[in-house]
Amino acid sequence: MVSNQLPISFEFFPPKTEEGIAKLMAQYKLLAAYNPEYFSITYGAGGTTRDRTKQLVLDINAKGIPAVPHLSCIGDTHHSLKALLDTYKNTGIGNIVTLRGDLPKDVADVANEFHYANELVTFIRQHYGDSFKLIVAAYPEVHPEAKNAQHDLINFKRKVEAGASAAITQYFYNSDAYEDFVNRCQQQGITIPIYPGIMPITNHEKLARFSRMCGAEIPQWIEKRLLDYQDEPSSLKAFGLDVVTQLCEKLITLGIPGFHFYTLNQSTPTLKILENLRLTSAV
Ligand code: FAD
Repeated sequence: MVSNQLPISFEFFPPKTEEGIAKLMAQYKLLAAYNPEYFSITYGAGGTTRDRTKQLVLDINAKGIPAVPHLSCIGDTHHSLKALLDTYKNTGIGNIVTLRGDLPKDVADVANEFHYANELVTFIRQHYGDSFKLIVAAYPEVHPEAKNAQHDLINFKRKVEAGASAAITQYFYNSDAYEDFVNRCQQQGITIPIYPGIMPITNHEKLARFSRMCGAEIPQWIEKRLLDYQDEPSSLKAFGLDVVTQLCEKLITLGIPGFHFYTLNQSTPTLKILENLRLTSAV
């Protein structure tokens, strides 16, 4: 039996309640057994989860495996982001997922100090030098607001030139999109590692909703099979597991630097994929 070794990271979002945090910590324990490179914690644009993200980052980081905060700049101020970054620096946080973010529609009267993620990369490099490794977002299937694919690539390059150290992609189910994106990056002289973001498939409705918002494509053959399994959740999960396992197997053959899993705070779907891949953490 062959065992693959690759750096793996897991993403959580900060729960709203104490009960949610207790449940998340049980999932954390199961995933931590995999010895991932880090756990990343999302941040609500405009600072909507500022305190919850910070607290979860500090709590998880204190347990031993590094925690990596996401930080988005849209609707936030230089002052408030600097206060957070100071805390992170002083507690030994080494990486930041550096983003623009999508401002929730119900947030009114927000600051207009940042417009794009490259400005946040520049801001952090100006104030903190090389204290943090900065990980930015990449879109193999093109960001939904981008004028076109080439414009999106040039905007991705701005983040790299501003000082990004690595990137994680939006999720996708078509490995050709990743391969083509990485090739186009290389043609532009972009050499930072680009980690594929992997979204397990466990629920058709939720996946379709997320995908509409973030511009990720669910290929038609997958969508049709998921519709077939609408009343059979266990068959849907088994099919989803096969699809994502095969995607990951293909990505491994492309020489990816590692995997980032969007866990949605559930360990089982991700652990099953890792088990199928016989993947162990290279950290
Ligand atoms: P940017 O890189 O700023 O790009 C946004 C759009 O603007 C693109 O269309 C781009 O082509 C264009 N653009 C960029 N720079 C310029 C420029 N200088 N001039 C003109 N156009 C430009 N969202 C959250 O709210 N919280 C999270 O924790 C979070 N985590 C994420 C983690 C990952 C790995 C990924 C892939 C996404 C995450 N998101 C998160 C979603 C993300 O915030 C959205 O996709 C958002 O719409 C874009 O953020 P960005 O950092 O990619 O933005």
